[in-house]
Amino acid sequence: MTTAQATYAGRTAALATKHGKGPLIATPLAAVGLEVVVTPLDTDSFGTFTGEVPRRGTPREVAVRKARAAIEASGLDVGLASEGSFGPHPAMPGVTTDLELVVLVDDRLGVTVSERVVTTATAAASLEATAATSSAELERFCNQVGFPDQALICRPADGTRQAITKAITSLDGLHRAIRAATGASRDRRAVVETDLRAHLCPTRRVVIVEAATRLARRLASRCPRCETPGFGQVGVETGLPCRWCGLPTDAPAALVDGCARCDFRQRRPVAGDADPSTCPACNP
Ligand SMILES: [Zn+2]
Ligand SMILES: [Zn+2]
Repeated sequence: MTTAQATYAGRTAALATKHGKGPLIATPLAAVGLEVVVTPLDTDSFGTFTGEVPRRGTPREVAVRKARAAIEASGLDVGLASEGSFGPHPAMPGVTTDLELVVLVDDRLGVTVSERVVTTATAAASLEATAATSSAELERFCNQVGFPDQALICRPADGTRQAITKAITSLDGLHRAIRAATGASRDRRAVVETDLRAHLCPTRRVVIVEAATRLARRLASRCPRCETPGFGQVGVETGLPCRWCGLPTDAPAALVDGCARCDFRQRRPVAGDADPSTCPACNP
């Protein structure tokens, strides 16, 4: 057994999930010896991805509540959950980001450890369709988004909450859904868009696996002072000196690692100097 595998060897975690996210999260966590059992929970009650049920709190807070619910439902002392959210990029207008977060709550050690991945490579895409939209145009959109591995949603363009079809994975089904949605919409238009729920969205699944892999890596790292698993980066210190003028910039001068349980912190200084474009004096 490797040192990493020894971290959680012999322990079992309950994963809160409604659809088949089990292997996505279980496989990377096998690297630390953790066995994952799926605990079916109606995770929709914590808020839905598509917004029918609003989510309360940050993605991390929602994920922690789900992991705690899995602990309660299973009687185990480790809970796991993931939470995804799509939103506008803070700096790039019109660009959508996908944040995937995986959290582990360990009641025996008294720690909560999470990792996240944010990407702009999302499956978010939409197309407006009418009865006159050609099959060729639909097929072009389908090919572009990776249909049918990537499923689709079709809804009336005027916001009517009826005649909405989700999880479309066949061309026949797509044509039927467009007829239903255009028929129900006052403007006779339908919106076809990617179904971004994880079990229907391969792009998200890749990111969830990456977040679970990072979580396993963090769990394999122990605090140098108290040996609790989950030691890793908790912040950055800015102030790397500018290459031209030597004044402190907004670029990170050190990465700060921290323990999930005690207050031990460790700085990892960043080598070199900062690009003058990050310098308030040289590039005001
Ligand atoms: Zn400068
Ligand atoms: Zn510690």
